[in-house]
Order: sequence, then C-alpha cells, then structure tokens
Amino acid sequence: MSSVLELVRADLRDFTLYEPADSDADAVRLHANELPWRPEHDTGGRGLNRYPEPRPAALRRRLARRYGVAPAELLVTRGSDDGIDLLVRTFCAAGEDRILTCQPCFSMYAGAARLQGCGVDEIPLDASEDFALHPDLVTEALAANTKIVFLCSPNNPTGTAYAPADIAQICSATSGRALVVVDEAYAEFSALPSAIGLQAEHDNLVVLRTLSKAYGLAGLRLGSVIGSRSVVGVLNRILTPYPLPSACVDIALDVTSDASVRALEDKWAAIIDERRSLSLALDALPAVTRSWPSEANFLLVQMKDARTAAALARRKGYLVRELKGSLANCLRISVGTPEENAGLLEVLRTLRP
Ligand code: PMP
Repeated sequence: MSSVLELVRADLRDFTLYEPADSDADAVRLHANELPWRPEHDTGGRGLNRYPEPRPAALRRRLARRYGVAPAELLVTRGSDDGIDLLVRTFCAAGEDRILTCQPCFSMYAGAARLQGCGVDEIPLDASEDFALHPDLVTEALAANTKIVFLCSPNNPTGTAYAPADIAQICSATSGRALVVVDEAYAEFSALPSAIGLQAEHDNLVVLRTLSKAYGLAGLRLGSVIGSRSVVGVLNRILTPYPLPSACVDIALDVTSDASVRALEDKWAAIIDERRSLSLALDALPAVTRSWPSEANFLLVQMKDARTAAALARRKGYLVRELKGSLANCLRISVGTPEENAGLLEVLRTLRP
C-alpha cells in the first residue's frame, strides 16, 4: 500500500458506500426504480426521470484537461465545500485525529472537522508581512495525529497566495504523516502558479478547484478534488452515489468549452484590473486605514470603523463582509462591476474618518 493510502481511516480502506446501478445508454432501464416517462417540459439530453451519471465522465475529462491532470486524478463534487467535507470524513477518525489550519482562513475547514468530531489546530499567518505563510511554523505545529493540513491559496479572506516552493516544503515534511490540501478556489485571479504542478512529486498533495468563482457558476455547485490516483480512487468509493444533477453537468460542459473559457479569461483580466483600481480608490478614502495586496477577486480592507461602514453600505443597498477575531474592524469586499465598485466607493466616501 502506498504511504498516502495508509493515511485513510483504517475502517474505510476497504469500504465502498454503494454500487450505483449500471448505465447503458441503449438498454431499457428496468433496474433503478425510475418512472419510465419524462416529466413535462423536460427537454434535457438524458431525461430527468433518470438518475444522473454517478461520476460524469465527460465533465471529468473536460475539467482534467483544463487543470492539466488525468481524469483518474480528479473527482467532481458538489462544490469545494463538499470536497472539504469528504476529505475530512475520509482521512480523520472522529475523536482521534486533527486538522491544522493557518489563520485567518476559510472557516469551512474547521467546520467540517468539528462536524466529524475532530480537533483543529491553528497557526497564525504573519500579519506583519501581509499574512505570509512560514512553512517551518506549519511543520513544527504538526501533531502525531494531524491528518490534514489545509492551505488556502489565494487565501480567503486575506487574498495572499503561497509560493509553490513553500507548499512543496510542507508536502515533503508531512509525507507519510498527513495530507496537504491546497484550496485554490480563487486561483484564476492569481499570478502565482497552481500547486497542481507539484502533484507528480507529492502523493500527499490534494488540490481543490471550483467553478463557483472564476467560472461564474456558484449556483451550480461544482468543484474538483485533484489528487493522486489512489486518493481519488478512495474518495470515489466514498462519495455519495449520484451527487451531480444531470442538468448542472450539461451547463458545466457548455461553460467550460474552449470558446466559453476564452471569453471568461477577458472577464478574469477585467476583475484583476478592477481589483487594482478599487484598492487604490479605497486606500484614498478617509474611512479606510489600509487594504492588503490581493491575488483573489476580493480585497481585505481595514476600516476606521468597519461596523458603521458595513451598516451604511447595507442601508444603501451594498453587502460587504464584516470580519471578526484577529480581523475585527476589517471588511472583505468582492470586486464587482466598475459601476458596482464606483457605487460602493461613493457610499464609503460619505463616512467621516
Ligand atoms: N474555498 C474557499 C477558499 C472559499 O472561499 C469558498 C467559498 N466561499 C469555497 C471553498 C467554497 O466553494 P464552493 O462554492 O465550490 O463550495
């Protein structure tokens, strides 16, 4: 058994959740207890009376090509939230194992661990250096029962992206001990290379990608877990039988075609441009203390009084995210259209320092 499979929960190593019904497009389906007629108004390819493909092959091939991996190295889930939950359930035994996070970061890692009855250890990102990650601190914080290290790059909510060399250092130091999960939900907005390129050398590395952000498909709920064939093989056996609605798969295939992605790339460039001008404009406002450099489609902004700013924005019809804990008095502001950004700036300009 490869070392990474030894990290899977012992009770799940030979477990298969469910054998989905056979799928043969030409055969009469009398094996899945479906209604034999389509619903009225259903014009989709497969028919909504039929169960969807359990692990949709065309979408897996499409996404694997986009991310530069083999289809056997990619599992499609109901958004990255689902992937995070699946990884924690697969690798962390309740009441025994722990995860490690770098704070501040996306709260779902700790949430999934808590649901699974696992401990959460935290190390701080370096606030004095724009929330830099120090790989040595991560490896020093590993406990004997740490099973997953979560790294979010670009990081929500700081916008910081981590260098592949730092991620590789953490993967080497944790090899055979823990999985390193790099959540790249915002990667398309970053100038840094993806950690996917490190995968050939590190079988304990898993990368999460999603169609929710750059592809504009948050409503479809589609994410990818990208890892070694053996890790993806285990996850395939444990993921729920029919997670992805066939209509969502059809739309995702349209939106990820070469022509659609070429059009999307212009939008990503526009967001990156807007991010630059929005941060300059925010920094010039009296109510703003500072903003941080961001590799994502949002900005972390420290305000003189974040609560008042968020409340005023809301009254005027703009939602921004007020942060807590070590980021109290900060807002996370998504980059919108030029008109939306100008409107928010107009509102924040009326605040007294
Ligand atoms: N990871 C990060 C870092 C996120 O910020 C988010 C959404 N807020 C997610 C994952 C969830 O992504 P999805 O919509 O694919 O579940």
